[in-house]
Amino acid sequence: MKKTDKCSFCGREKKEVQILIAGLEGHICENCIEQAHSIVEEEFKKNVDFDLKGIELKKPKEIKAFLDQYVIGQDNAKKILAVAVYNHYKRLSQKITDDGTEIEKSNIILVGPTGTGKTLLAKTIARMLHVPFTIVDATVLTEAGYVGEDIESLLTRLLQAADYNVEAAERGIVFIDEIDKIARKGDNPSITRDVSGEGVQQGLLKLLEGAIVNVPPQGGRKHPEQKMIPVDTKNILFVCGGAFEGIERKIGLRLNTKVVGYKAIAEHGKIDRDHLLQYIAPQDLRAFGLIPEIVGRLPVLTYLVPLDRDSLRRILTEPKNSIIKQYHKLFEMDGIKLEFMEETLDVIVDKAIEFKLGARGLRSICETIMIDAMFDMPSEGGSSMVITPEFASDKIERISTLRLQAG
Ligand code: ADP
Repeated sequence: MKKTDKCSFCGREKKEVQILIAGLEGHICENCIEQAHSIVEEEFKKNVDFDLKGIELKKPKEIKAFLDQYVIGQDNAKKILAVAVYNHYKRLSQKITDDGTEIEKSNIILVGPTGTGKTLLAKTIARMLHVPFTIVDATVLTEAGYVGEDIESLLTRLLQAADYNVEAAERGIVFIDEIDKIARKGDNPSITRDVSGEGVQQGLLKLLEGAIVNVPPQGGRKHPEQKMIPVDTKNILFVCGGAFEGIERKIGLRLNTKVVGYKAIAEHGKIDRDHLLQYIAPQDLRAFGLIPEIVGRLPVLTYLVPLDRDSLRRILTEPKNSIIKQYHKLFEMDGIKLEFMEETLDVIVDKAIEFKLGARGLRSICETIMIDAMFDMPSEGGSSMVITPEFASDKIERISTLRLQAG
């Protein structure tokens, strides 16, 4: 006799349920499906939490080691960033405890000449965290009502980088480049409103502090018929970068007028006048024209040093995806073994220094050297190529400094 069909999970008979789905060896009712579904969801959620914990386990030393794979030198900045990022993980995974202690967000500001690795550092951190990342230029921002982009548009790019996944964007990293360009002109706060300066800083403040911001999905200027996407900036890490040209003067002035100096100064007994950036402090940013509230919202302050000959040389070959490694790979794909002679690398570095282009110039110089070879070699079908210093110098001489700078 055929037994009555019933749910193999809860034992309810067919007449007690609405749906009973048959499997190979048994049945399941709609109640048990729903319950199973919520268990699966719960489990997935746990895994997400677990992921975060997995990330959290990366200790500052490991974070720095990761950065070392991509960024040459800049040890001081790396160390400070590693701690800031570590604390950021902790913040993301914190549960508000009974004592009410809440770890506050520590946005970061990197000060240093252009082409020293500020953007690269921020990019590398985002790569490590697997979070959406975007670079925005502070110079395009203006106050609402003026021509230019509204401040909220910073987050449009982040949303785009996150494929409009708001939750992912809310844990992302925004790198705001050229933050020094929105400094107040002059040290006097009472001068007439300047469009690109203080107003923009005030607008930015809201984002840095953590707020729910209505973001125009397509960016640009807001217009009334556009539907906005609310984004909470509470957990978005902002990394600001700027060259702050001339800030050494402000640092020097402060050090001259203050008797009580920094620990570093006390230790060394005297100020290293040639490298004043290492003494940078929040008040110097204020003296440069950032409003105190912004400075307060960028509590992690560090500096990057100009790259010397040795660092530039290392940048060519050492990083995981160094320029030279990339050329090797490109040629390898055509079956060509490429070799750069050691002296060739010296020529490239010498030119980068001569043209005052820093690391930024390395790629354009290499492109200049390699363009003809990249055009000819695939058709000529050779199996190896050696780039000699003479070959490199010859190619470089053919183009003007001007063209290099444009690249
Ligand atoms: P900026 O300080 O102006 O933000 P970037 O990070 O954009 O400079 O650097 C410009 C280019 O130079 C990048 O392509 C990067 O690969 C290279 N570069 C700059 N600094 C370093 C560094 N310290 N280590 C490795 N590459 C670097």
